[in-house]
Amino acid sequence: MIRKTRLFTPGPTPLLPAAQFAMAAADMHHRTPEFRALYQKVLAQLKVFVGTKNDVLLLSSSGTGAMEASVSNLTSPGDRVLVLTAGKFGERWVDLAKAFGCQVDVLKAPYGQTFDLAEVRKALKPEHRALFVQATETSTAVRHDVEALARLIQEVSPETLLVVDGITGLGTTHFDVDGWGIDILIGGSQKAVMIPPGLAYLSVSDKAWAAMEKSKNPRYYFDLRKERKNAVKGESAYTPAVALIAGLGAALDYIAGQAGGDLEKGRIALVNNAQVNAAATRAGLVALGFTLFAPTSPAAAATAVAVPEGMDSSDVVKALKTRFASVIANGQGEMKGKLFRVAHLGFFDFLDTIALLGAMEHIAKDTLKLPVQYGQAVAAAQQVYADAVKN
Ligand SMILES: *Cc1c(COP(=O)(O)O)cnc(C)c1O
Repeated sequence: MIRKTRLFTPGPTPLLPAAQFAMAAADMHHRTPEFRALYQKVLAQLKVFVGTKNDVLLLSSSGTGAMEASVSNLTSPGDRVLVLTAGKFGERWVDLAKAFGCQVDVLKAPYGQTFDLAEVRKALKPEHRALFVQATETSTAVRHDVEALARLIQEVSPETLLVVDGITGLGTTHFDVDGWGIDILIGGSQKAVMIPPGLAYLSVSDKAWAAMEKSKNPRYYFDLRKERKNAVKGESAYTPAVALIAGLGAALDYIAGQAGGDLEKGRIALVNNAQVNAAATRAGLVALGFTLFAPTSPAAAATAVAVPEGMDSSDVVKALKTRFASVIANGQGEMKGKLFRVAHLGFFDFLDTIALLGAMEHIAKDTLKLPVQYGQAVAAAQQVYADAVKN
C-alpha cells in the first residue's frame, strides 16, 4: 500500500505548501527594494503573530540562536540569574547562562511536571538580572504558567527581566506579552509557523533594550541592537535566510486567511486548533492504555505519553515509521525509550489527529500487544472534537 510520509514531530513540523512555493520563488537580493518591502511586511506580521507592540526581530539561526542572543545581550559575566528548568530545553538555558559567565541559580521541577509557584517565589531574588524559562517544555510536553510567573516577578522583583523560550509556546498558547510584561519572547521557524528550520524571531521590550546598554558580554553576529538598527531600514545586519523569510510571509498570510485575513484572530484560531488536537490526542492515547507523561499541565504543542511498564517507546517510534511512514518523537536523553511525543503545533488539522490515532491502534495492538478494540482511540478523539465544535 502507499504510505505517505507524515511528520508528527514537535519541530520540524509539516510544511505549508504555499510557503514552499514562496520559498522556491524567492530569487531575490537582500539589499533591494523588493526585499526591504518583504522584510518590513514580515516583521509587521510577526508583531501581530507574537501579539505585542514591542520590537520583533528576525535572526537567521535556529531557535537556540535567539536563546543565546538573549543571554549574551542581557547579561554580564558574574550576573546572578534564575533558570526554571523541567526538561532538556530548560537545561539548555542553564548551559547557555553558564557559558556567558552568569552565576546561575537553578530551580528544577521533575520531568513531566511544572513549577510550584511558592518555590519560585522563594527562589526569586531582586539580585536576579533575569529569569529564564520555557513557555512549553517540548522534551516533556509540559506547559508552564508564564502569566503567573510574570505576575510574581512584578510583585517580588520587578527589575528582573523575564525571558521566555516560546519556541513551541507561540502558536499553541495565548500570551499577553505587553500586559504581562514579557521582556523577551522567542519563536522558531520550524515549529508553529509551518516552514523549515533556520529562522528565529524574538520580541524585545523597552526594559530589555535599556538593559542591553549596560550588559558587558561579548556579542557580534547576535548583537540585537545592530539588528534593530537595520530592521528599521527594512534590512538585516548580514545576509538573511531570504527564502525562509518569503516562506514565513506566506505562512503568516495563510494563518490570517484562516480568520478572514485578520492575523490576530488567525493566531487565536491556530492556538485553539492545537489545543483541540492535543486534547483529542490525549483522550485517544489514554483510551488505548497509555499514560500521560504530563497529566497536570499538558502542553498543546505536543503530547507526551509513557508506554506501559516493561515496554520500549522506541518500538512504537520504529513501527509507526516502518508501517505508516509517520514520524513521531522519542523521549530525549534519559526519557528515551520511556515515552513518545506527538506534535500538534502548526499545520496539523483534526484529520491528521484521527489518522495518527488510527495508526496507533494498530501499533498498540500488534507491536505492544495491548488489548485494543479498533476504533477505541478514534472514538475518544471524536468525542473531544464534537464537544469542542459545539462550544
Ligand atoms: C525546538 C526548541 C528549541 C530550539 O531548538 P533549535 O534546534 O535550536 O531550533 C528550543 N526550545 C524549545 C522549547 C524547543 O521546542
